[in-house]
This record gives sequence, C-alpha cells and structure tokens, in this order.
Amino acid sequence: MLSTPPIHTTSRRIVWFLFLVAVCAVSHSAFAGPPRKTENVVLVTLDGLRWQEIFGGCDESLLNKDGGGVNDVPALKAKFWRETPEERRETLMPFFWKSIARDGQVFGDATRQASARVTNGMNFSYPGYSEILCGFADPRIDSNDKKNNPNVTLLEWLNQKPAYKGKVAAFTSWDVFPWIINSERSGIPVNAGWQPIDPAVELARSKVLGDVSQDLPRLWDNVRYDTLTYQATIDHLQKHRPRLLYVSLGETDDFAHMGRYDQYLGSAQSNDRIIEKLWNHLQTLPEYAGKTSLVLTTDHGRGDDRVAWKSHGRDLAVSQFLWIAVLGPDTPALGIREGVETTQSQVAATVAQLLGEDYVTAVPKAGAPLPGAVGK
Ligand SMILES: [Zn+2]
Repeated sequence: MLSTPPIHTTSRRIVWFLFLVAVCAVSHSAFAGPPRKTENVVLVTLDGLRWQEIFGGCDESLLNKDGGGVNDVPALKAKFWRETPEERRETLMPFFWKSIARDGQVFGDATRQASARVTNGMNFSYPGYSEILCGFADPRIDSNDKKNNPNVTLLEWLNQKPAYKGKVAAFTSWDVFPWIINSERSGIPVNAGWQPIDPAVELARSKVLGDVSQDLPRLWDNVRYDTLTYQATIDHLQKHRPRLLYVSLGETDDFAHMGRYDQYLGSAQSNDRIIEKLWNHLQTLPEYAGKTSLVLTTDHGRGDDRVAWKSHGRDLAVSQFLWIAVLGPDTPALGIREGVETTQSQVAATVAQLLGEDYVTAVPKAGAPLPGAVGK
C-alpha cells in the first residue's frame, strides 16, 4: 500500500496520455470527415440510351408507326405514356428513378443548365467507351473497328495495382470491347458479344446458359442480348468477387438503329430491371453490401426528331448530349443535379475517386471527378 503513490502517478500519466490520443483522434476525424465506405464499383453503360428518355420517359412524337416504327400503338401507349415527365420516366425506369435518383445523383438534365456531353466529337461507340474508360478523348480513335486501344483504361490502370490485381472484369453485349479494353495487353477478362459464358459455380446452370445463348435466334451478329450479359456477370461475381466490374448493355442502340421505338423502350425498361437485380444481388453478398457504388452512363446520345432519333454520330451535333448517374454509400442524395455542366471524360476519375484512388494526378489529361458526386 505504501508503494501506491508512484504507481498512481504512472497511471495518471497513462490516463492523461490516452486522453490526448482520444482528443487527437476526434479532431483528426472532424477534419477528415467520415471515412469513405466504397470498396467496389460497378460501372454500367446502356448503349445510346438518350437523355430525353432518361429524364422524360416515353417521347410522344415517336409513339406511332411512321416515326417510331411502333407495331401496336395503343399497347405501347398504355404501357409507357403518362401525363407528366416524372410519371413517364418512373414508368419506364422505376429502379433508376425510385432508388438511384432518390438516393444518389443524376447529371445531364439540359433543362436545368446541367447538360452532360461527350468531348470526343465523334458521338459514336468506340470513341465514347474509350472516353468513359480512359477519361479523355483521343482523335486517333475514329472508327468502331476491332483495333486495340493504344490508351490505358482505368480498368487496366487499377489492375496494375496489387489491391486490384485480378479483381477487374468486363461483361459486354457488344463484341468490340476486347479491343477497347485491349485485353491482350491489359490482361483484363472481357466476356463480349456471343462469346461462350464462362462455366462458373453451378455446372447445370452454365450448361443451360450455354445452350440458350447458342440456340436463340440472333437479331445481331455483333451484339448479344443483355440478359445473357447479365447472367454472365452474375456467374463471374459469384466466383471471383471483382472490385471493379464493368457491365455494358447494348440492345437500346440496336433497336433504335432499327427504328423500333417500342423495342427500344422495352430494352430500356428491362435494362433497368437488370440493374435493380444486380444491385439487390450485391446487397446479399458480404463483400459488397453497403460498400459498393454504382455508376451509370451511356456512350453517346442520339438525334431528337422523328428521323434522327434512330442515329447519332459526328454529323449529328445533338447526339453529343448524354446523362450520368451515381449511387452508393459515399454519394450525397442530391437527386437531379442543377447548374453543373459535365462531360463523359469525368466518369473514369469519378469511379477512381469512389475507390479512393487519385486518377487525375496519374493521368493529368483525364477529366476531373464529377463535382459533389463523392461526399467529403
Ligand atoms: Zn449506334
């Protein structure tokens, strides 16, 4: 008992020290803000889906046979036409509007001084996807030919880091992606077009998917149906747990080129369902639940009248306009963004920022992250 005073003094010093540590920790976290939660990102693109349908739903001027190629106008009207743009867009893409836009952010509403556009000047697919994935336009990319991309995509850049090695993958409906992502050089697995779907967890399921994929009649030689791309994605997720997963859906563009507004809207709606199922599936997996962000966009816009809606390209300036959406635990729920002009070249750095990576310092010609898409 007599020896307690020195011990008492020591323990008081320890308590004082711990108090200082606690004060420092509190002031540090107050300075740094809440820690970032995102550990994985799923990037989804919907080929050539116009901002007009995203923000306004079904377009009345295309609800007909001559402009929209609609077979059954009353049926399409009953399915997608509503009095207000808000009702129409929620009817077309309920998950996008009731979850992504409510809990996340949407860029590209030209009626709110918030247009989003491509910077490549081409307004078609390969240049658009390269701009999305690399973060900058490259004038050398001026066709959809199957030529290896000379540029390094964000996917390849991340895959070179130990934390992402083997944890980056792409599943795409269009068959040009192995060249856009340069899988030969990058080593990124790209399952594209009508390629066989990897046999993964359940052999019986893989066999059924293989049979379905092989035996379905094909509308397009170079683009498979999006549901098959989705099924391939789910298989890969189950087995490999990627940290950056790119899913590229393609039907909307092809149906628009065919001049079939009914099928175009149908694919926009089924793509919304695919994204909802993918998101809900991720929330059932401990590696993803509450720590995954979703980024959605498109490679280009389209024309905006009864003929031009079917196409896009460098001669159709309005097809430069598009949309971008972000959802996840680090994205403030600001909904439709106003007064902020953005570009396709900002997507790559935004995906990187969500993962806590500084892409712009490494690749200075890349667009900056979308302002306010990732909370401080
Ligand atoms: Zn196209």
